[in-house]
Amino acid sequence: MSTVAPVRLLPEELVRLAASPADKAAAIREAGQLLVAAGCVEAGYVESMARREAVANTFLGGGVAIPHGLGEDKGLVRRDGIAVLQVPGGVEWNPGQVARLVVGIAARSDAHIAILRRLTRLIQDEARLAALIATGDPAEIVAALSEDGAPPAPATAATDLAETLEWTIDYPAGLHARPASAWAEAARAAGLPIRIRHGDEAADARALVSLLQLGLKAGDTVTISASGNDATAALRRFLGVVTGLSAQEKADAARAAERAAQRPVRGWQPAGALTAIEGVAASPGLAIGRVHLLVQADAAIPDSPVPLGDGAALLEDALARTRLQMKALVDDTARRLGAGDAAIFKAQAGLLDDTDLITLACQLMVAGHGVAWSWNAAIERMAGQLSALGNPVLAARAADLHDVGRRVLAQIDPALAGRSLGDIAEGPAIVVAADLSPSDTASLDVSKVAGLATALGGPTSHTAILARTLGLPAVVAGGAGLLDVADGATVIVDGDAGRLWLDPSDADLAAARDWIDALAAKRATEEAERGRPATLRDGHEIAIAANVNRPDQVPLALQQGGEGVGLMRTEFLFLERGDTPTEDEQYETYRGMIDALEGRPLIVRALDIGGDKQVAHLKLPHEENPFLGVRGARLLLRRPDLLDPQLRALYRAAKVGGDLSIMFPMITSVHEVTALKARCEAIRAELDAPTVPVGIMIEVPAAAINADLLAAHVDFFSIGTNDLTQYALAIDRQNPDLAGDADSLHPAVLRLIRMTVAGAKLHGRWVGVCGGIAGDPFGAALLTGLGVGELSMTPRDIPAVKARLRGTDMATLQALVERALAAESAAEVRALDTGAGA
Ligand code: PEP
Ligand code: MG
Repeated sequence: MSTVAPVRLLPEELVRLAASPADKAAAIREAGQLLVAAGCVEAGYVESMARREAVANTFLGGGVAIPHGLGEDKGLVRRDGIAVLQVPGGVEWNPGQVARLVVGIAARSDAHIAILRRLTRLIQDEARLAALIATGDPAEIVAALSEDGAPPAPATAATDLAETLEWTIDYPAGLHARPASAWAEAARAAGLPIRIRHGDEAADARALVSLLQLGLKAGDTVTISASGNDATAALRRFLGVVTGLSAQEKADAARAAERAAQRPVRGWQPAGALTAIEGVAASPGLAIGRVHLLVQADAAIPDSPVPLGDGAALLEDALARTRLQMKALVDDTARRLGAGDAAIFKAQAGLLDDTDLITLACQLMVAGHGVAWSWNAAIERMAGQLSALGNPVLAARAADLHDVGRRVLAQIDPALAGRSLGDIAEGPAIVVAADLSPSDTASLDVSKVAGLATALGGPTSHTAILARTLGLPAVVAGGAGLLDVADGATVIVDGDAGRLWLDPSDADLAAARDWIDALAAKRATEEAERGRPATLRDGHEIAIAANVNRPDQVPLALQQGGEGVGLMRTEFLFLERGDTPTEDEQYETYRGMIDALEGRPLIVRALDIGGDKQVAHLKLPHEENPFLGVRGARLLLRRPDLLDPQLRALYRAAKVGGDLSIMFPMITSVHEVTALKARCEAIRAELDAPTVPVGIMIEVPAAAINADLLAAHVDFFSIGTNDLTQYALAIDRQNPDLAGDADSLHPAVLRLIRMTVAGAKLHGRWVGVCGGIAGDPFGAALLTGLGVGELSMTPRDIPAVKARLRGTDMATLQALVERALAAESAAEVRALDTGAGA
């Protein structure tokens, strides 16, 4: 960690005494210009300082403000420096906050925190501060900002604000994410501080994550308090929002209970009456183990103020150590899991340099709070703001913030480290957690962990994807009650039915073990046969392909029985790195895929950017509803700078040989197809490349309904059931609350697939499916009965799908489809699953 040399940072000429800026903007300009004149920053930095004020509060406390530039403008800093404007008459910084020392900062992150350390120390020394505001000697200011000291910090306890009222939670599922975000929104709208206290724990009601961490259950009584003008009325309005949610919460709980009762009996069933926690199936299989409860340590961060100088030094040191730890983690992950996974930690390490976050922590320390408490509160506040925006990409950044925040906490005080997956002494363990972070999952040891169960998440969450990759049975979205399961208790996870069985008897355990053995034997048989084609008993052959994005993943896909690649999601070439791959780089990757497939078919999907796949470095405009916005083909048609290099790379690759097809995502109308095909043809002709089949994804209901029109223009369809389900059922595919309803076997989705197949048939086109349901053996059976001729899936799903199809014939499947199409719900469709043979 670098220590900042104060003399170099603050020469006397950077101190302006007796300044009287007209307002805050003028003060920032004046401080900024001092920095420019001293050669610390480029001229543009002054503007950047002004822009930061729109997004962050730089009032540190005690009459000191610390304007500084935006993080992305750090390139404008030539060397570290600070400029001080002494404003004896004061300048209003925010309503009610008057700055008398305006400290303009030009610094990279390390220096920033060191400066804050000095300032926070100074603020505690009221007499000294008053002297600095009045002094006529710049040397006094330079000296004050060049020393460390340790005046005592006032102790504060977590208490209520001035006006209070009590309320007992009557939401049956407790304060979970949905009502908590309504609380946070209402608190923000109130415009004054509102605090929620339960026992010794309190949360700022504006911070969603802090609210969730109170872990409030039905029956818990909380004290809601507010302060400021009009606090009584604000409290009353807030309570109105809180109680207004009760009816909906009760109705939802009743509906969930009803749904669970109606759920068809699938998978393992206990002999006697056993309690189960119902969640959403995320990764198949059954597992028995002892609960390893991953409770987040930050549930009870003590607020123990220390002298400010010590506190700021402790934080600075913790950040430095965490940076080193993250670097080691990046290196280790890159070795074990690859550069793509390591990039997650690289991005997280960047958060340690977030000056807004560090400033906020220091502001809280200045306000009298302890280091760990302040750091945690800063993390919660920023993460809460990100999550509350409802943007999945920013929500993922919030999860990263928590992850990295916990690492720093553990450095501040090892007692706050909490449990990790590394603590599992012996397996088999069932990891139970609110959700699993990328760090948790990177340290997961499959020799000790048998299954996973999380309170949050959906079938497409990080936990679910990782569990499927590792072959671990998993249940997600089990609700807050999951976290009440006793640590060490023996449980059974059913990743097919989405249940966690509690307190199994010896007889249940024995029965579950038999089931697990039978599943393992079945899996072994399927795997032994995975190289054989998926030929139905009557000779119908279904093509089985893998969804694979990189050449190095091809060998595993082939080994699992894949006969080609039915979906290469090229946006991952963009998502896994910080810049846009060049045409040559793309060419190398496509050639790598073709070569690895040794003549087998490869379907490359053109970039599907937008929706849940946001590429930060493209800096695309913010959209209110990204899933309904400029996504997939819509973006490609607006951005020839993205489309053309990709098509050029593809046609160049096709010129060298192989069995390549191109597929366009998110097609809604014929005109998109004709425009994209015209681009393909122009580029093909320019390169004198061979023609290749051009197909489209059917993932918008309009495309399924107009399949007969679209089929005239393309060579094939591949149905993206993940999106088709989302758009047909109007269920955001990432919404954990609705994860249980987003079932691709909903009769409405099946009917759209029937229309797609009928439209394709009119023009003699083939239809594949590359959405998740293709990898579900029962789903694959239904799709085959609907007339789909190719199924592309996650490689691990291939053996079971092939085995299921080989055990049946077309007439049986068509009869099954007729019953499924007549069903009233996805549950009714699933109830038709009687196991192999149908
Ligand atoms: C789909 O939508 O089903 C699909 C395969 O595309 P993605 O999941 O990449 O959106
Ligand atoms: Mg899709």
